[in-house]
Amino acid sequence: MTRSCSMDAAQYNAYIEHMRQTEYPMLKGATYLDHAGTTLYSKSLLDAFTKDMMGNLFGNPHSASQASQRSTHQVQDVRLQLLRFFDANPDDFDLVFVANATAGIKLVADALREHESGFWYGYHRDAHTSLVGMRELAEEHLCFREDKEVEDWIEYGPQDTQTRLGLFAYPAQSNMNGRRLPLNWCRRMRNKGVLTLLDAAALLSTSPLSLADLDTAPDFTVLSLYKTFGFPDLGALIVRKDAAWALQKRRYFGGGTVDVVVSLKEQWHIAKSAHLHKQLEDGTLPIHSIIALKSALSVHRDLFGTLERVSEHTSLLAERLYSSLKSLRHANDEPVCEIYKDPTSSYGNKNTQGPVVAFNLRDSRGQMVSNLEVEKLAHVRNINIRTGGLCNPGGIQSALNLSPWQMKDNFSSGQRCGSETDDVINGQPTGMIRASIGAMSTLTDVEVFVAFIAEFFLDTSCVPFNRTDSPISSLDVPVSEQLHIESLTVYPIKSCAGWQIPANTSWEVQPQGLAWDREWCIIHSGTSIALSQKKYPRMALLRPTLDFAAGLLRISCAVPTKDSTATEINVPLSADPRCFTANSKTSTPTNVCGDIVSSRVYASPYISTFLSAVLGVSCTLARFPANSASRHAKAHLSKTTDSKDATPLAFSNESPVLCISRTSLSALNAAIKARGGTAVPPSTFRANIVVSPSLPSSSTSTAYIEDTWTSLCIFSHKRHSHSSEGTSSTANFKVLGKCRRCHMLCVDQQTAETRQEPFVTLAKTRRQDGKVWFGVHLSLSKGETKGWVRVGDQVKAT
Ligand SMILES: *Cc1c(COP(=O)(O)O)cnc(C)c1O
Repeated sequence: MTRSCSMDAAQYNAYIEHMRQTEYPMLKGATYLDHAGTTLYSKSLLDAFTKDMMGNLFGNPHSASQASQRSTHQVQDVRLQLLRFFDANPDDFDLVFVANATAGIKLVADALREHESGFWYGYHRDAHTSLVGMRELAEEHLCFREDKEVEDWIEYGPQDTQTRLGLFAYPAQSNMNGRRLPLNWCRRMRNKGVLTLLDAAALLSTSPLSLADLDTAPDFTVLSLYKTFGFPDLGALIVRKDAAWALQKRRYFGGGTVDVVVSLKEQWHIAKSAHLHKQLEDGTLPIHSIIALKSALSVHRDLFGTLERVSEHTSLLAERLYSSLKSLRHANDEPVCEIYKDPTSSYGNKNTQGPVVAFNLRDSRGQMVSNLEVEKLAHVRNINIRTGGLCNPGGIQSALNLSPWQMKDNFSSGQRCGSETDDVINGQPTGMIRASIGAMSTLTDVEVFVAFIAEFFLDTSCVPFNRTDSPISSLDVPVSEQLHIESLTVYPIKSCAGWQIPANTSWEVQPQGLAWDREWCIIHSGTSIALSQKKYPRMALLRPTLDFAAGLLRISCAVPTKDSTATEINVPLSADPRCFTANSKTSTPTNVCGDIVSSRVYASPYISTFLSAVLGVSCTLARFPANSASRHAKAHLSKTTDSKDATPLAFSNESPVLCISRTSLSALNAAIKARGGTAVPPSTFRANIVVSPSLPSSSTSTAYIEDTWTSLCIFSHKRHSHSSEGTSSTANFKVLGKCRRCHMLCVDQQTAETRQEPFVTLAKTRRQDGKVWFGVHLSLSKGETKGWVRVGDQVKAT
């Protein structure tokens, strides 16, 4: 029946590789290693589902019509098929459809709390966040910090004298590092009178689970079907009928879960009694998802054979991934990867280890590499992995050796689940990288990923910095460089195209930055989050122009948009209060790079229609209030420069003024060309000031000298408009630090297309402390409230 049962491992891998081209066309050009998040849906599955839906009339199951009956039968049928998929005898088990594994866990928790004296809850350290949360509903709870504590508790723990209902919950496989936990705990806990909940969501992604032996089966098993089949988005709770009583105290009833309800004069109802699932499935079932599940089961069998086969295949790939990562060494023999493998598990042994590798990277000096940097480069290479806390608090804390006070400390330093903040705090990582393998993964995926890690994170020379450009010690730095301002650019709308300040114009610099720089932003209509080019590259196509003669900010789009007739819109440069929405006459809280600042939102549908058409997302224009101390850039700076070490502006690419050097750009372009790439223009770096050597003979030996600057002095000659007379002025800048770069550099500012350079070359030649640097952040020196700059001005850097 299946094409795969008689193949050896290499043949099977080749078969997947080949089959993938038609079945998973979305994998083209991508490396997907986040199967523990969700696996992928195949073309055959979606085709079969569509065919089923188009060929049959399906109604709401709760009535007598043919369409309704058809749905009813399908649901009954699929419920049975799914039980059989787990070798579960329908006489002994019932299956309850739920939204996802978490919903199954909550259903159990909600039912158990109805028992007279509540329930005792024990859970294993490796539990997913969704299991941990159940403790909040328990009267008493206990976290088992290691397997031995579970074993000891089973051996020596309290005897069956507890008056309170007890539940022990654990994952069959850790969603963090793929470790597989002993399945025999269920039987042994039962012997102690404790109910068991097995979270099989991660395990079932690549491994079978058999409930054939009633004696060893958990009382409750939860799973997420999308993790096994990629589609539908559905979960299930499998209940051992002997334990059904524990769930039957639920007080809530809803459509579908009662037989009779009397509501008016008297109030009583009779719960459905025939089947447990009838009592627990409130409201209309997700019938179409359940119907899809039928196709999912049969297509999975056709494409992969059995889950045993999947398990074998993925286990082999994981072994390869693990050993390859483990053997990566810097030139000084220091390991590149720190892998979080449990000592009790071993890759290649399916009983103890699933196809997941969780790890962090160290540079050749042993410093942790920030996961953010790994993410940025993975993004450029279209490699999909998961990084961060991985929804596994206990596992992370124990693998990373974080104590509760450190977790709290990290939280106050801005570390949040799912946030984009820095993840190496005080030299210690707060998260990890997870590469997880699925049924349709191949050896090529593993090789691509390992090569990627080696390419960017393995130091072959162990000269930590400026590997291609001769490093300059601060002693060699001449006190003054003959430099001048080559160009000046402001970005009137945050993340949109820049506007070049005309060559003969003196421009005002304020403590917040160049006048008119990032005065506006574009916000998402629903969330008020300021949009960024990183997520919306097309913002580069929005070209703002400052038209002082007309008193307008003109915004044009570099390419015609089909849904919008306008090719340009404009708003007054003056902050005319009539432009703004009524409720934001004062201000609207706007989220700019994670900081809440106030802004005023433009009311005109004309503006939002135009911007939304260009960017393909519902959005509108907002203006930061004048002279507000909380103007976005400033909000960042006060936070990041107050630290002891004034150098890194770690969290943001925003600062009053960003300056780059033409000499450094030339050096970078030479490196890009040496690697066969195409040179990039200065606009790529979205700087405000480009400085270049005044003497054309200046050699590239001064490339990256700006890294060592501490201050910058600009000598400006401001011509009065009414006469040929002028005044000279000096603007003094403090260098706040180097500018940390991300893959936004890959957006071509002309076309809004993304490409790999210059980020790839920068990452290889300009990485220090695990971060990629180019350019420097400046602000007016302390105490200076105003300065003037102009193209051609002499610059002295020290
Ligand atoms: C994914 C996962 C969950 C949560 O599943 P949802 O479908 O998001 O509710 C719970 N436990 C483990 C082990 C998982 O891998």
